[in-house]
Amino acid sequence: MNSTESAMRRAVALSEIALGKTSPNPIVGAVIIYESGEIISEGFHESAGSEHAEIVALKRAGAKAKGSTLVVTLEPCNHFGKTPPCVEAIINSGVKKVVFAVKDPNPIASGGAEKLRAAGIEVISDVLTKEVEFSNRAWLKKIRTNSPFVTLKMAKLGWEISRAEWNLKVDYYSTVETRCRIFEKRVRRYRHGDRNGYIRQSKIIRS
Ligand SMILES: [Zn+2]
Repeated sequence: MNSTESAMRRAVALSEIALGKTSPNPIVGAVIIYESGEIISEGFHESAGSEHAEIVALKRAGAKAKGSTLVVTLEPCNHFGKTPPCVEAIINSGVKKVVFAVKDPNPIASGGAEKLRAAGIEVISDVLTKEVEFSNRAWLKKIRTNSPFVTLKMAKLGWEISRAEWNLKVDYYSTVETRCRIFEKRVRRYRHGDRNGYIRQSKIIRS
């Protein structure tokens, strides 16, 4: 694995710290490295309205950002939302090269790569795209199709499922592991403000 890829893996891991807290924004992580691959600084987007990952990392790097490589999971934004465009800050910082995984599919925020190139910064895209597409799958689905990301959980009532709990006379037909995962997903959706859309208890289907 080269140093850019390992920095991108680190950026993905950082972005996932905020999973479920950034809606309506995506999760984003950023790592700034020297040419040798040594990390100068890193950052991630914590919540909507807070600084974008690139800005957090750039501020931490300070003057060391000059001549460095910025590795970021999503194409840097090019519009004034709740915060100023990241491309401006990147250009002003003296970063030499920008590497990102997924192009911003949001029409109002895209165009960042072109603007960076126009300013003389080398831009490389599609590094670890599959990993970032996966970690941001819920947000990407919403932006690309305007439909929510849906998880369907199905179970069959039978002695082979949750037998250990059958004696408890509790109406569970999922295992403890499954219920833990479902609970985690509910918490994330709740944090997203999707209070009506969270997973509903499905009916027992008798076969
Ligand atoms: Zn941004």
